[in-house]
Amino acid sequence: MTSLHHDKVVVVTGGSRGIGEAIVRRLASEGAIVHATYNSNPERANGIAADIAAAGGTVVFHQVDVADEQSVGSFVTAVLASAGRIDALVNNAGITRDGLLMRMSSKDWHDVIQTNLSAVFYTSKAVTRTMMSQRSGRIVNIGSIVGLGGNAGQVNYSAAKAGLVGLTRSMARELASRNVLVNCVAPGYVETDMTGKLTDEQRAAFTDAIPVKRVAKPDEIAAVVSFLLSEGASYITGQVLNVDGGLAL
Ligand code: NAP
Repeated sequence: MTSLHHDKVVVVTGGSRGIGEAIVRRLASEGAIVHATYNSNPERANGIAADIAAAGGTVVFHQVDVADEQSVGSFVTAVLASAGRIDALVNNAGITRDGLLMRMSSKDWHDVIQTNLSAVFYTSKAVTRTMMSQRSGRIVNIGSIVGLGGNAGQVNYSAAKAGLVGLTRSMARELASRNVLVNCVAPGYVETDMTGKLTDEQRAAFTDAIPVKRVAKPDEIAAVVSFLLSEGASYITGQVLNVDGGLAL
C-alpha cells in the first residue's frame, strides 16, 4: 500500500475485468476509496473486493448498467450518500460489437454508442455538480487509438471513441475554471477479454505492427490513469494520451 491517493473517493466504471480491474486494484493499493461498477459478473467483482480488503484497501462494487441513465443516477446518489464526495471519475466500461459496415445491425451500432459514449455523458453529468461545488475533480475517459485512426470492422466503436475525444475536450473547457480536469487515455492493444477473441495469427500480425513489439498489460494503462489523478498532473486538461507502444505513430 502507498498513500498517493490517500482517502480520495474515486469512481471507476467497468471495474470487474481487464483494464478497469487493474485500475481498481492499483488505485486501492494507492490508498483511494474506490467505488467500482460491474454489469453482469458479481462473482468476479466479489473476488476482487476480497483480494483488495485482504491487502488493506477499500473497494465497494455496485451493479450498474452504464448505458442506462437511471441506473447511473442511482449509483452516483449511492456513492455520495456513503462517501459524501467524489474526487475522481474513471470512465472505463466499454463493449465491442464488431462487423463490417455493410453487415452491421442498427442494434450493434446503437449498443456500442450507448455503452461507450452516451454512458460517459451520463456519469460525467451526474458527478459534475459535486465536483464543481468542491472546486476540484478529475475525470479520465478511456478512449482508444482507433478513435483517432479508425479501424475496419469497428465503425461503431471507433465513432464512439472519436466522440469521447470531443466530449473530453469540451468538458475540459467547461470545467477548468472550477479546477475539474478532464483527460482521455487512448490505449492501443491491451491483453484483456476484449482482445482475447483474436486468433493467434491476428495477434501475431497485430503485435508485429507495434513498435515496442508487444501488447500492453492492463496495469500499464492503470499506471497512466493513476498519474492523471495525482498531484503531478495538476496542470493537464483536455489531453488525449496515447498509451500504445508507439502503434499510432
Ligand atoms: P473488458 O475486459 O471487456 O471489460 C469490460 C468491463 O466493462 C467489464 O468490467 C464489464 O462488466 C464492463 N461493462 C461492459 N458493459 C457494461 C455496462 N453496460 N454497464 C456497466 N459495465 C459494463 O474490456 P477492457 O479490454 O478492459 O476495456 C476497458 C476499456 O478500455 C473499454 O472502454 C475499451 O474500449 C478500452 N480499450 C481497450 C483496449 C484493449 O485492447 N483491451 C484497447 C483500447 C481501449 P461485466 O464484466 O460485469 O459485464
